Amino acid sequence: MVTTRAMMMTTSPDWARAVAILDGAEHVCLACHIRPDADALGSMVAVASALRDRGQGVVASFGDPFVVPAILTFLPGLELLSPPDRFPARPDVMMSFDASNVDRLGGLARSAGAAAELIVVDHHATNTGFGSVNLVDPAAAATAVLAAELISRLGVPLSREIAVGLYAGLVTDTGSFRFAATTPTVHELAAQLLRAGVDPAAVCRELYDRAPFGYLGMLAAALGRAQLDPAAVGGRGLVWTTVTRADRERAELALDAAESVIDEVRRTDDAEVAVVLKEDDQGVWQVSVRSKDVVDVGEACTELGGGGHARAAGFSHTGRAGEAIAALKGVLDRA
Ligand code: AMP
Ligand code: MN
Ligand code: MN
Repeated sequence: MVTTRAMMMTTSPDWARAVAILDGAEHVCLACHIRPDADALGSMVAVASALRDRGQGVVASFGDPFVVPAILTFLPGLELLSPPDRFPARPDVMMSFDASNVDRLGGLARSAGAAAELIVVDHHATNTGFGSVNLVDPAAAATAVLAAELISRLGVPLSREIAVGLYAGLVTDTGSFRFAATTPTVHELAAQLLRAGVDPAAVCRELYDRAPFGYLGMLAAALGRAQLDPAAVGGRGLVWTTVTRADRERAELALDAAESVIDEVRRTDDAEVAVVLKEDDQGVWQVSVRSKDVVDVGEACTELGGGGHARAAGFSHTGRAGEAIAALKGVLDRA
């Protein structure tokens, strides 16, 4: 796994080469990171729709588990998805969305390694530059910003279908236009997407304002066992909790239902860093880490084998939840 800081590199976007490769491709194979969020899946289906609109063949997928999160099932263009076992082993032209390193493609990492051309579209500062062409810009608020730029350079008009995927990525990765990455460019792109037919209220209702009734019980259980360590992170404070498999099984909820718990926990005024450990169906902890103003949790999570951004990052841990918290506190105290 390519995770050490020394191996990180970011290259500036090479738009002309990407456009030339895509212009010459009959078929394009698209992949996004495993357990996709709105930025990964929305950007990928947007570009897949744009290529299809140009008459090109597309195969779009993500590595197992091949399940679209419930809150993303409203995305238009999902009919372009195929299961990962139908993804070509040696694509001529492959694209990767919102993945900072090749391992984030899960089971599709092998195809990426064997692809004749690999166009990486991403905004993680820790991106390893694993493509033959890297459209990587850590200043971009979302991969969707780069996907929009690419679609424009391909000369494809923004259909409503394309715009909804891009808007979902943009609104999610900016925390509904709240985070520091919310630049004038972000709002300008949002305006373009609305003009292309996005209904922002409908999209945000799907993304944020609905859940099955059982979600309330899962959330209550998770918030009820939250712990605050005011001394952690050099006295800036750390708050953490877990969402166990049992919490989810009581309400037959998939792992993605636990995704938004971090947004409640990170409210805590008494803690610079907030952590939610979500137990997946295999018993592995998928750890979400957030910071407010000063702490770079992306670097910390990278040290622990994961990755992410300065204020939002994650890693996986096999073992006890307490061990993962202890390891994270150790890294954060040293930073
Ligand atoms: P999440 O907490 O799952 O919303 O993820 C927040 C950020 O951390 C996203 O940018 C993810 O791409 C990144 N991230 C989360 N988990 C991992 C992981 N296991 N490895 C690398 N990056 C991760
Ligand atoms: Mn993502
Ligand atoms: Mn993203």
